[in-house]
Amino acid sequence: MTETLTAPTATRGLVEITGVRKSFGPTEVLKGVSLTVEPGGVAVIVGPSGSGKSTLLRTINHLEKVDGGHITIDGRLVGYEVRGDRLHELREKEILKQRTDIGMVFQNFNLFPHLTALENVAEAPVVAQGRSKAEARRRGLELLDRVGLKDRADAYPRQLSGGQQQRVAIARALALDPKILLFDEPTSALDPELVNEVLDVIRELAKSGTTLIIVTHEMGFARDVADTVVFMDQGQIVEQGTPQDIFSNPQEPRTRSFFSKVL
Ligand code: ADP
Ligand code: MG
Repeated sequence: MTETLTAPTATRGLVEITGVRKSFGPTEVLKGVSLTVEPGGVAVIVGPSGSGKSTLLRTINHLEKVDGGHITIDGRLVGYEVRGDRLHELREKEILKQRTDIGMVFQNFNLFPHLTALENVAEAPVVAQGRSKAEARRRGLELLDRVGLKDRADAYPRQLSGGQQQRVAIARALALDPKILLFDEPTSALDPELVNEVLDVIRELAKSGTTLIIVTHEMGFARDVADTVVFMDQGQIVEQGTPQDIFSNPQEPRTRSFFSKVL
């Protein structure tokens, strides 16, 4: 527990990130980041490499502990509880339970190589939520169908393309019925011709009202799918707004300079 942690007051958003700070050794990589994502909202985070985007996502499920500020999901503090007038870190078991509210999809798919597509999707509901194997498999097939892979249920990751593996990873993240899904550059490791099949699945999730926070370099996709575009640089949110605001009418010189290089 650290001195600068503060307890939350009443919350509005499904996700509320308030004044989050994080250092690695002497380097402060998040310098007081605040962001609200409403239920069903889609926030897309863009910015140069090293600006703190992945670290911010990792604080949301307490894979990184914050040094200051706090995060709530659905009004509940992430990683801590208030006892008396102090914050105490939750026990590991509670943290794991809390993480089932948050699905995360990484750049490199991170599927279990020794499990089939269906087993990858059906594993966590059995282990983390105590659902029956039959129920988890039934639901797993539904989710594989949703990402267009029902006919590959018995394939192992090595037998699938990168785009297919990433779609399995999305189905797996959905299997715990999370309140929010986090994507960290979900298409950066894919061959260009496989990018769209993954973006299409994420677009469908956005349309269906799933709350999403997405880090991506795919600017066309960001423009399509985001309610809020967040531009991060050097550990800070420099500017945030609608896609129209940020892409067509950026106010800050740093934002303009970044887009002049990537668009
Ligand atoms: P981005 O995702 O925007 O590229 P990151 O959040 O990965 O940025 O990294 C932000 C900064 O924090 C970088 O300078 C990176 O080197 C540093 N960093 C990230 N994780 C660690 C770590 N576990 N230990 C030390 N430094 C780290
Ligand atoms: Mg990153």
